[in-house]
Amino acid sequence: MKILFLDQSSQLGGAELCLLDLAQYYRKSCLVCTFSAGPFPQRLIQENIAVEVLAQKSLQFQKQSGIAQAAKSLGQLWPLIWQVSRLSAQYDCIYANTQKALVVGAIASLLSRKPLVYHLHDILSAEHFSALSRRIIVTCANQAVLVIANSQASRSAFVSAGGRAARVQVVYNGFDLDAAPRRAKRSRSQIRSNLGFTDQFVVGHFSRLSSWKGQHVLLDALKLCPPQVCAVLVGDALFGEKDYAMQLQQQVKDLELDNRVKFLGFRSDIPELMSACDLITHTSTVSEPFGRVIVEGMLSDRPVVAAAAGGALEIIEPGQTGWLSSPGDSAKLAEIITLVYRNPELASAIAKQAQAVAKERFNLSVINAQIDDLLKVSISHQPPSSLHHNNNGSACEDESRRQ
Ligand code: UDP
Repeated sequence: MKILFLDQSSQLGGAELCLLDLAQYYRKSCLVCTFSAGPFPQRLIQENIAVEVLAQKSLQFQKQSGIAQAAKSLGQLWPLIWQVSRLSAQYDCIYANTQKALVVGAIASLLSRKPLVYHLHDILSAEHFSALSRRIIVTCANQAVLVIANSQASRSAFVSAGGRAARVQVVYNGFDLDAAPRRAKRSRSQIRSNLGFTDQFVVGHFSRLSSWKGQHVLLDALKLCPPQVCAVLVGDALFGEKDYAMQLQQQVKDLELDNRVKFLGFRSDIPELMSACDLITHTSTVSEPFGRVIVEGMLSDRPVVAAAAGGALEIIEPGQTGWLSSPGDSAKLAEIITLVYRNPELASAIAKQAQAVAKERFNLSVINAQIDDLLKVSISHQPPSSLHHNNNGSACEDESRRQ
């Protein structure tokens, strides 16, 4: 299968990290096109994946933009559309991984007559997108032969926004199960002492700094926790939310938490850092489309508390594989953090169970094979090697594959 991947971003967000894993699977026969230069194309080059940066200037249209901005952006898109249409002649399909990539891919696919696939990493609701953006995305996505949704929550929102249900398959993100032990070059105590922690209870938050990711909720919660509880905030303002990043720094000062909070910026050693924490928190204030960090926390054998909305509800079974807190509710979050702090044996048992479940459900090699099967069926009309589909549109691995 020869795939032309398109992704508008130059940053390493969750959608790009997911694509990085998939592009490695198709390394010998794919090209990844990004719409600007930056850390994502650089990382693809490091991994020996063919990459082409199609434009140097970022596009103006944003998730909440209106009609005037949309018209202006279309003008910017034409050169990209021509390039993609021309490049696609050498590939079996155009695989769009983000919304602007979808718009470019959909028009290029009409010109080149190459099938379009869309990997949906977002919840198409009013919380995240303007009505115009949703209409544009659904219109373009309905032209795809296959839409891969990263959760049932993303699928439902897509269908509610007018997306064709029959074309959508839910495939969760996969994770390299060997990543954590392979990359762990330092011991947990070494990492903790490098961070300046000894016997504190360290709560980790791993996400780009963005108001809907809710780092402020964790800071408010921390103030209500015993003084032994500290936090590391890992991540940067990737998509222009510098004001929020400054607001968080100010909040730390106002709450007098300077000695209990560390900002680490963007890091590439996530499994190691997670293993140095005592609890991983996910605090999104609106529905999370999937929540890679939740699974990464589970795989790191750490207890996880997540905000109860969107994809998180499909990943965590409360009391069995983690805890759920109401989005935005810092008092409830503080209660759960304190419970985990005071009950290390319970937390450890739940973390163990969560790790076993995550290894079973989110194994990268199984998930890459699922996507490959879906592409074969949708594009080349080959019979699937091992898939069946359930009533929810989820692609499920065959029993034989698990053995
Ligand atoms: N991440 C990272 N470095 C950081 C912060 C986050 O590599 O400093 C990764 C994190 O491990 C996860 C991804 O970024 O794999 C974020 O994905 P998620 O689904 O949690 O959120 P998204 O960014 O897609 O909204």
